[in-house]
Amino acid sequence: MDRFIDKSAPGAIATGKGTYHIETWGCQMNVHDSEKLAGSLERQGYIRAGGPDGADLILLNTCSIREKASEKVFSELGRLRKLKRTNPNLILGVCGCVGQQEGEEIFRRAPYVDLVIGPRSTASLPALMERVRNGETDVTLRVDTEYRRDSIDFPYEDIRREGQAGGKAFVTIIEGCNHRCTFCIVPRTRGKEVCRELDDILNEVRSLADRRILEVEFLGQTVNAFRDSAGNGLPELLTATAAVDGIRRIRFTTSHPAQMTPRLIDAMAAAGPKVVPFLHLPVQSGSSSVLKDMRRGYDRETYLAKVAAVRDRIPGICLGTDIIVGFPTESDADFRETLSLMSAVRFHSCYSFTYSPRPGTASEAFHDRVDLGEKQARLRELQALQKDIQEQLHAPWVGRTVEVLVEGPSKNDPSRLTGRTPESRIVNFTGRAEIGRITSILVESASAYALAGRKIGDEA
Ligand code: SF4
Repeated sequence: MDRFIDKSAPGAIATGKGTYHIETWGCQMNVHDSEKLAGSLERQGYIRAGGPDGADLILLNTCSIREKASEKVFSELGRLRKLKRTNPNLILGVCGCVGQQEGEEIFRRAPYVDLVIGPRSTASLPALMERVRNGETDVTLRVDTEYRRDSIDFPYEDIRREGQAGGKAFVTIIEGCNHRCTFCIVPRTRGKEVCRELDDILNEVRSLADRRILEVEFLGQTVNAFRDSAGNGLPELLTATAAVDGIRRIRFTTSHPAQMTPRLIDAMAAAGPKVVPFLHLPVQSGSSSVLKDMRRGYDRETYLAKVAAVRDRIPGICLGTDIIVGFPTESDADFRETLSLMSAVRFHSCYSFTYSPRPGTASEAFHDRVDLGEKQARLRELQALQKDIQEQLHAPWVGRTVEVLVEGPSKNDPSRLTGRTPESRIVNFTGRAEIGRITSILVESASAYALAGRKIGDEA
């Protein structure tokens, strides 16, 4: 699949100076891809703009997981088109999964777009811009979902990390997915799995520790499928990272239940408290029949057995999950099984959505027997149950002291600071604290979604 850039608009790019703005939708992988795009642009002399107005280059880094993702991108493009009228030199690009999925359709429906680039081509941006700067008039960028090392071996010195001030950093270790869940577009947009080498990842982690990063989060669509060319997997990576001086917390997301092996669970337990006691393990449904139709590769009993094994080896570990409600073949009895699984597991957090078909997925062809009203009613019931569970799990924390990595001002109340515990609980608190450091907070109240308290002691 080939993509074209309009060379008739060199403008700020021709001088190597100008301003850029990136809008990011979606998951941590996309947030991190935007950090890479920003880093490459700044290395080329671009300066970050305060917003889209007046920027010389605007990139939309898109996600196709949510419903009507493409329509939302076209709607945003329509809005940005006005900026093109006032700044004819503006370069407008679409990156990420919608770029990959829609391809030439974007040029057809929005001919004022200059650049379309898939998520595997992030590392190609500097080369592409260089060709534009050199005055080439017909630059083509290949969007490639096949195995390509350079799609993942991004020069990490160049990444502009948004979380750095907050003491934490994302580190991609694996890209793509070899599973074929019937509802998911990711294997089509991000391609098959490609893994980095363990030594390269460790070099990146050491360089982050040198820059006072306390927490690293390893990223991948199926992060626990990581395996480098020497056969090192996530167990070896966790063990080696725990030995890096300065790193205090290690997270990884997203894990596939089928690859939650006893060896990985043992490594998490053996690596000690640096590997945080939190695991995001998407179940998607509590019904074995629906899981089969989703082609998830495990059934209800297997999932519950994995949860039991994790809790047995790591007592007190918190679990998060994702759930899709109203899959086309989900009966009311199937949905009740999901509720019963939630009651049994008592997840610490849960991202839940109603099902809607994504173009190009296998489930698009399924006969949808759950009407929208029923889907929404099921989602409300599920979310009410989850809220109850979270309230019950948070209440006992009142009066206890928690260790929080300070992220910055609270979004809802900028007079307070916010941060996260190792288990990923959000804590809003009063008192002065250095952003990016770990501090002790006495918890004074709790809701379903966060703890609140005041700082005690000094940052460490
Ligand atoms: S494991 Fe399934 S849901 Fe997750 S990215 Fe792969 S195909 Fe999508």
